[in-house]
Amino acid sequence: MFDGTSGEWLARISEAGKKRMALTVEQRTREPEAIPDVWLAFAPVKRTQTDWLVEKATELGIAKLIPVITQRTIAERVKLERLRSIATEAAEQCGRTRLPTIDEPISLAQLLKQADRAIYFADEGGGEPAASAFKPGPAVILTGPEGGFTDDERAVIRAAPNAIPVSLGPRILRAETAALAALAVYMAVAGDWC
Ligand code: SAH
Repeated sequence: MFDGTSGEWLARISEAGKKRMALTVEQRTREPEAIPDVWLAFAPVKRTQTDWLVEKATELGIAKLIPVITQRTIAERVKLERLRSIATEAAEQCGRTRLPTIDEPISLAQLLKQADRAIYFADEGGGEPAASAFKPGPAVILTGPEGGFTDDERAVIRAAPNAIPVSLGPRILRAETAALAALAVYMAVAGDWC
């Protein structure tokens, strides 16, 4: 068993009914995992792609997911309960004992105000190559919607003192590919794959 925060526990089924069952917790089998303090701030995309993004980001070890509403965000309503259950399944599947936090959607301005950490801004317009840009330490990776950030938004993000524009190579990636590629590179060079 796991509750997302206290590690993993061995339990015995002490009562099994049709609609409910009771478990007796016996002992802790794993301590809560230590995961890198990296968040993903992403502009929600269509439902299937957003589901996919949440599942894969959980497998890759994300600590927190923040849907960010941008000028060109085209998304059906973000259903947090659904995303949380996708993250729970992904965590079970890959043996994570800590669930990622999934925040309520916020605006880009709110994100920039709240994120008191390095903001790695995935910008197809250019930036430092991802492999050398990412450094260990609290971070948020910011990726845009299908249509990209507007020029105004890009200027506002770049003007933030803690923003670091990052390039993910010469090809324009789809929003969810960009988010996951950036996260994989972060884990490899600054997270817990190294
Ligand atoms: N503006 C583009 C599409 C944006 S791609 C267009 O319509 O032509 C969606 C998001 O993925 C972007 O906002 C950016 O955050 C990220 N992204 C895609 N390719 C990238 C790359 N090569 N380097 C950095 N970020 C990229």
